[in-house]
Amino acid sequence: MRISVTTRIVAGLVLLTLSTMLIACSLKMVPDQNRVHMQDRARYCESLAVSSSLFLTQGNIETLQSYLNAVVKNQSDISAAILRRKDGSIFIHAGKMFNLSGKPEEDLFNKVRIELLEQNQPWGQLEIYFPAEKQGLLSLWQMPMTRFILFVLACCSIGFYLFLRKNLQSLNPSKVIPGRVQEALDTLAGGLLILDTKEQIVLANKTIARVLKTAPEELQGRAMSQLPWVLPPEFETDDELPWRRALSEGTIHKGITLSLENNSTVADTFVVSCAPVLDDHDHLRGVLVSFEDVTELEKKKSELREMLHALHDSREEIQKKNDELQYLATRDPLTSCLNRRSFYEQLESLWEEAQQQQSTLGCVLLDIDHFKSINDNHGHSTGDLVLKGIGSTLMELVQEPGVLCRYGGEEFCILLPNHDIDETEQVAESYRQAVERLEFEDLKVTSSFGATAFSLGASSPQELLDEADKCLYVAKRGGRNQVARWDRVPVDTDFREPIAREPAPA
Ligand code: GH3
Ligand code: MG
Ligand code: MG
Repeated sequence: MRISVTTRIVAGLVLLTLSTMLIACSLKMVPDQNRVHMQDRARYCESLAVSSSLFLTQGNIETLQSYLNAVVKNQSDISAAILRRKDGSIFIHAGKMFNLSGKPEEDLFNKVRIELLEQNQPWGQLEIYFPAEKQGLLSLWQMPMTRFILFVLACCSIGFYLFLRKNLQSLNPSKVIPGRVQEALDTLAGGLLILDTKEQIVLANKTIARVLKTAPEELQGRAMSQLPWVLPPEFETDDELPWRRALSEGTIHKGITLSLENNSTVADTFVVSCAPVLDDHDHLRGVLVSFEDVTELEKKKSELREMLHALHDSREEIQKKNDELQYLATRDPLTSCLNRRSFYEQLESLWEEAQQQQSTLGCVLLDIDHFKSINDNHGHSTGDLVLKGIGSTLMELVQEPGVLCRYGGEEFCILLPNHDIDETEQVAESYRQAVERLEFEDLKVTSSFGATAFSLGASSPQELLDEADKCLYVAKRGGRNQVARWDRVPVDTDFREPIAREPAPA
């Protein structure tokens, strides 16, 4: 519940009045009614004592009794009067203040006791009983000062309220602004707030009130900082808020995007502009804050960002799939070496490169020895295992820019850019040894190699492959598990002669 400004001021003024009255009371500037009353009682009791003493001296006891009876009867605040002898026995009593046991109910009364003398000797005492003061709230209410204070406070509250309501209305900025101007402000598409120098809202138009789901009047008097602003990440402190800067620097700040938290998933977003409000003497009086609601735009932008993100993700996914397809299309499924088709593409391009750069290109053809007998003796799956093992060993050995392919059933071909025949033979020999070292459970295999190089004069890629194939033939004929190089193949070699199939080593 919000307490209106008028009520708050009235409460303040009433409290001020009450404090003033209490201070005046404590400084004894207001007569103490109670004390005056007590003094009156004391004086009355003294005159009663003088009269009683006179009657006693004259021995006029009956008259004294009548006198005291009359006093008790006529004085409403005197309950009883008792004349006691020196020894404490009751000599005369007037009034009804005795209980059944014959003892006075003294607790219920305030008592004034006055000593009586007879010929300057103590004779006894006169006791006057007044009704005891009531305790608690009721007695407080019965105190004249309490009632006086309450009366003043009630009158002040009503008076201040009526007075302030009338006068504050004429100070209310929304009332000061002519109706038509207010209407014009309300029809603005953008929100508008006027803040005072303490960042309190002095005026709000309907547009911003609608966004904040409240009435313009409800916003008046509220501090701008009470609204749930979301600081942009680039703001380090609240001091960077545009209205704060407009107030502290006295300059205009335009086009700052700010968001207000709401209960929905998308925050209300505005482009905020602030301009200081100056008086006739150029003194800063406040700040004018205008809001352009860009929530929808931000929503669309965020949707677009999400779409782009999704698009980017799916493009990456497609690219990944393409890469996978590309890999599968260029690779041999068993050994993952390049397949023959992509190998030819690589060979063409490396051949051209070697031609253009007048460099060389080594070519090695590898054929596993007695592979058929491995299949025959150990089964086809063991044969596959051997092919995979040799393929992965070669893949480790053939480094970029070298190219490895599964050329045929149990044949591999390796291209070695910038390798002359000596280097190619050397590399082929290292491959041979690596294959020889391999062990497939209890099975060991060897392979034969044909090595040639572009520098030896082949006129086409196919001729280079033919040379390597012929070398391989020579290596097989030479007893297998060896490297044959093209420049050392005898010219008169008959490549049509069948190769002896000596039994494979156990
Ligand atoms: P050589 O030492 O003269 O090369 O004898 P070899 O037995 O290796 O040669 P041959 O050409 O007679 O046999 C090759 C065998 O390779 C025949 C074929 O069954 C086998 N082969 C070809 N491709 C595969 C394959 O993918 N998996 C398996 N397990 N065997 C294959
Ligand atoms: Mg073969
Ligand atoms: Mg073979």
